Amino acid sequence: MANRETVEILIVGSGMGGATCAAGLAHTGVRILILERGPRLRDSSDARDARAIFQRGVFRPQESWLDGAGRPFNPGNYYYVGGNTKLYGAVLIRFRAQDFEPIAYREGATPGWPFGYDELEPWYSRAEQLYKVRGTIGFDRTEPRHSQAYPFGPVPDEPAIAKVRERLKSVGLNPFPLPLGVDIDKWLQRAKTPWDAFPDTGTGKMDAESCGLDDALAHPNVELRENARVERLLPEADGKRIGGVEALIGGERRRIAARIVILAAGAVNSAALLLASREGGIANCSGAVGRHFMNHNSSAVLAIDPRSVNDSVYQKTLGINDFYLDDGRGGPPLGNIQLLGRVTAPILKSNVRLAPEWSLNVITRRSVDWYAMSEDLPNPESRVTMDGARIRLDWKRSNWSAHEGLLKTFKERLRAAGYPIVVSRPFDRRMPSHQCGTVRVGRDPSTSPLDPYCRAWDHPNLFVVDASFLPTSAGVNPALTIAAQALRVADHIAKTDLQRT
Ligand SMILES: Cc1cc2nc3c(=O)[nH]c(=O)nc-3n(C[C@H](O)[C@H](O)[C@H](O)COP(=O)(O)OP(=O)(O)OC[C@H]3O[C@@H](n4cnc5c(N)ncnc54)[C@H](O)[C@@H]3O)c2cc1C
Repeated sequence: MANRETVEILIVGSGMGGATCAAGLAHTGVRILILERGPRLRDSSDARDARAIFQRGVFRPQESWLDGAGRPFNPGNYYYVGGNTKLYGAVLIRFRAQDFEPIAYREGATPGWPFGYDELEPWYSRAEQLYKVRGTIGFDRTEPRHSQAYPFGPVPDEPAIAKVRERLKSVGLNPFPLPLGVDIDKWLQRAKTPWDAFPDTGTGKMDAESCGLDDALAHPNVELRENARVERLLPEADGKRIGGVEALIGGERRRIAARIVILAAGAVNSAALLLASREGGIANCSGAVGRHFMNHNSSAVLAIDPRSVNDSVYQKTLGINDFYLDDGRGGPPLGNIQLLGRVTAPILKSNVRLAPEWSLNVITRRSVDWYAMSEDLPNPESRVTMDGARIRLDWKRSNWSAHEGLLKTFKERLRAAGYPIVVSRPFDRRMPSHQCGTVRVGRDPSTSPLDPYCRAWDHPNLFVVDASFLPTSAGVNPALTIAAQALRVADHIAKTDLQRT
């Protein structure tokens, strides 16, 4: 490689997987370079302006992907230092122990993981400490074993939400405090808004930049380059080792050599990079790169009681797992329910364009807003491919009848709890918020690109540590599991790869 710079470890992407892995490796003292496609997100008046965020989409990328029918769409995929976590809801929940085992659903089954919950548990605890998770154990019957308590107590319910909690209990539900990564006092000091889907400009969200990356960059051997878009991975002549990457850095094309390459560009972009790097793809002897794309089946549910006003600001403090391990009657599981960040009229208007905001305000003042989520099952035909230089995302939803069952069951309970009007709407397919599965781990190199430590079976010095690695999507939010595995992989690299020379 001409003009090349050489580093020990090169990480592509500074989101949940990349930043957390950097934090886990920083103590080794080796030179680590993180290349991040986006810039740091600076504070601005738009950062807390619901109209700017939801109606004008000022934080969305200037990019279009193709869907399965070849139609272009603008994806809700965010390119900033910290990746999608800059806008995330900061629900930092563990996958349940059962999620690591095969699960039978109404329409198909999950295959189980190549390792069990107990294997990942120590790193879940470490991830909770790194991301300063607020939570409490003992309210949720699906809660798996914790070897360490949450570092902070739960984010308090606002008074209106405390009443919702009581109403749900009165109809036999068991709401639990959602584990959250947010310093609520600091967040509200900047402006009284929810944080879910709002960008974090350093004002209290525990995200990949403010936690993982800050921790890593406290070490002098770790460097971040913003506006550095990796375009290709460069295999060496033997085809086995990855010699480095080619990237556009501040508009200049550069090659950087590395002893270890850690890909963490997100489940769609990591698959796209592997596929675009050479004919047939990199790490793709299995043919599985880009396949098994999953994104949760999810819907917004608005429960309206015309007699009571919901004056909460952030709302997002409750979860319900009563239908997570089964449907409540011993049948197959349905999914998880959690409060959405508070939906206000300017937010609702981004979905109901023709209605005036004042009319939507009548609804949103009286609604409690929920996020219902069901597992999406791995399907080889649900996939990311390249169409020339463009990403094509052909998401084939699965397990939709479980999701319908979840909505039906939850709506019945909400009506019983005194919400006579309950409406729901599936989340937009253009929002790949919980994208995963495209470069999955497994025990068999013929069906999975990665081994259980996220090392490419085909390339001993290549790892993929973002949401791509997830062999199943489970029915709860993915970020903490991505962080836990990134820390586990970092320890593995430090022990096996960095001690070899
Ligand atoms: C609105 C929203 C709300 C969410 N809420 C939650 C929640 O409450 N809880 C939860 O668990 N999850 C939530 N998620 C999902 C969560 O944010 C993701 O699961 C998580 O960020 C995925 O981590 P990752 O490392 O795979 O990718 P990301 O965090 O997206 O990081 C990928 C990084 O790679 C960079 N990159 C991409 N291509 C390149 C390239 N070619 N070269 C260099 N860099 C590149 C990107 O800019 C980005 O910084 C939410 C997501 C969204 C969008």
